[in-house]
Amino acid sequence: MALRFEVIGRFNRARAAQLTLPHYIVKHHCTIKGLTYSQLEDIGCQIILGNTYHLALRPTAELIDDMGGLHKFMNWDRALLTDSGGFQMVSLLHLADITEKGVTFQSPADGQPMLLTPEESIQIQNKIGADIIMALDDVVKTTITGPRVEEAMYRTLRWIDRCIAAHQRPHEQNLFGIVQGGLDPVLRDICVKGLVERDLPGELTSKGANLFDSHLWQLRYWWSFGGEDKDSFWRVVAQCTAALPEDKPRYVMGVGYPLDIVVCSALGADMYDCVYPTRTARFGTALIPEGVLKLKHKVMANDERPIDPTCSCMVCKTYTRAYLHCLVTKDALGSQLLSYHNLAYMMRLSKELHLSIVEGRFPDFVREFLKAQFPRGDVPEWVCNAMEVAGIDISSCCAHLSAPVYKASAIPIADGEAPTFGKEIGANSSGAVPLLVIISTEDFLQAIHFFN
Ligand SMILES: [Zn+2]
Repeated sequence: MALRFEVIGRFNRARAAQLTLPHYIVKHHCTIKGLTYSQLEDIGCQIILGNTYHLALRPTAELIDDMGGLHKFMNWDRALLTDSGGFQMVSLLHLADITEKGVTFQSPADGQPMLLTPEESIQIQNKIGADIIMALDDVVKTTITGPRVEEAMYRTLRWIDRCIAAHQRPHEQNLFGIVQGGLDPVLRDICVKGLVERDLPGELTSKGANLFDSHLWQLRYWWSFGGEDKDSFWRVVAQCTAALPEDKPRYVMGVGYPLDIVVCSALGADMYDCVYPTRTARFGTALIPEGVLKLKHKVMANDERPIDPTCSCMVCKTYTRAYLHCLVTKDALGSQLLSYHNLAYMMRLSKELHLSIVEGRFPDFVREFLKAQFPRGDVPEWVCNAMEVAGIDISSCCAHLSAPVYKASAIPIADGEAPTFGKEIGANSSGAVPLLVIISTEDFLQAIHFFN
């Protein structure tokens, strides 16, 4: 069996879990743009996500296969996850066209039309050799409505069968299915049921490993830059986590902000990936318990404090805000140092979230998190709604529900950065809140360069 998933703590819907993969036990995960692997290990990163689309273009799946697989090629002995490649095509290439056969796109190399089928996606991922691989799904933005969403959902179910049939290494690599259906609860429900049904009878017997033992489920959630309805977002997550099997990890792709991760974990999700920590670092923004800190701001010019006095990462132990103020957005070192801190922040958040569930104090963790992020008690309504479903009383954090706590924050807040969606990964194994950071081509090559 290529995976073991063990829930080691619960609070209502939230779970703390341990995911054991061929190359590592994943309690908290993450990956990076511009950081070395030893830095990732320092932070506690246990899993990295690589983009199949980028890896297939360069250095190519064949070369990686010849070199003994991605673990060996990168000299990374911890866990790896690859996506199907389809998401990049649809999100990055304007000319991508989806048909029943697969995703047709124009090669960025020579402009020739190319086709990625579910079978090819799996074959490529089999060659790359990551511990977790993704089914090719028919991706639609969550903001799209109408028959296209239904078409994509049913096609995703048809394609999962082709992916399962094509998977050549089920005992070494874990294939994740993807729940499609946009914001339509009926379609999401059909998709969840369809995927669960494919988890054939073998799993319930004691026969041991078979293809379906290694079948996991995930939601595909696509951030839109227009800022979709967060209330719809959490409701979809809540619906899917309630319907997905208890004994398998639940991965919400492309999420997210620290607040989103806390909310989704409260609703029963386990894993996440997002480019946000490193993307926002490149804009000179640091993540701190109170929200974000803009290092570019002129008030940082003579601030001798570390980014976050409560953070024990190498950057906070070594550098002042004033020093970082001079570097950010001007020097690559600035991005690297902020990326390091931001990932350390996400790892700490994940670990604390995980521990709070294991130790039976998750509601306190959530309340402390919200009080730090919203000192004026202005917790967004969608968060209040989600916490009600999660069974966590946050009335003491909400001004409209209790006496307001006014605490002026002198921290400059980042303004209007677009949600990142590309790929760096942060996986959260619920409770364990694994954070994966997806590596884009640039990221991957940069990582290789650093390593060498
Ligand atoms: Zn730090």
